[in-house]
Amino acid sequence: MMAGNRILHERVALARMAPSRFVRPQQLISSTVRGAKSMSIPAKATLATVGSHAAVRRAIDVRIRFTDGFSTTARVFTFNGLIDGREHLLLALGNWEQYAPNSSQQSVTAPLARLHSECLTGDVFGSERCDCGPQLRESVETIAATGGFLLYLRQEGRGIGLYAKLDAYALQEVGLDTYEANLALGHGEDERDYTEAAQMLDALGIGSVRLLTNNPDKTRQLTALGIDVVEEIPTGVHLTTANARYLTAKRDRTAHTLDISSARTRT
Ligand SMILES: [Zn+2]
Repeated sequence: MMAGNRILHERVALARMAPSRFVRPQQLISSTVRGAKSMSIPAKATLATVGSHAAVRRAIDVRIRFTDGFSTTARVFTFNGLIDGREHLLLALGNWEQYAPNSSQQSVTAPLARLHSECLTGDVFGSERCDCGPQLRESVETIAATGGFLLYLRQEGRGIGLYAKLDAYALQEVGLDTYEANLALGHGEDERDYTEAAQMLDALGIGSVRLLTNNPDKTRQLTALGIDVVEEIPTGVHLTTANARYLTAKRDRTAHTLDISSARTRT
């Protein structure tokens, strides 16, 4: 249980505050780290306090099939009001309707959710430089088994974009790791922002999730936005000889919970 009374207290406190200008959670976190006393930014901000609710625009059922034959039906949600203006998707999988606020079969547990950041090279072309394709494939099946949500976020290359990601690959060829390469290009180590993910969950009335992740930053940001992460469920380690350096950098640089030494290497 990572949420509980603390979150409730913060929500009550925030509910009494006047809505402030929109503030992204990363700004909140960095302003806290810097201890910028002059800034009138609350330590935490929910979607309610920042006035950034989104609404479901349309939902459409799509039958999906992976190259290994696994198939399922996803209800694909689109939205109005996502604050960065990009076309993010929420895929509702399995028996997800039990988690809808007005469901007659209301579940007592929180739904599984996965925040997947778009990776064209890994998701579509099966690039072996990263583990995005296998992560996506695994999470769809895991979520479909119990019901829940896969959020497909259009923030390629940890938020720096596709071309910059490929530029970073070139720097990795000469010895930089994935984070050092982003910094060398003038970007942050990881520029991803999960505000739109929180907006999409909020639009469906989902206030708490069991998050499929090895990345503590996702939990930190969602929690800051008022989505309770009641449990973190680690994803598998998809180790190959080609992505070993990449996975090691994720573990060592940004505290991803990856047990690489015990993972079997695929070739
Ligand atoms: Zn990738």
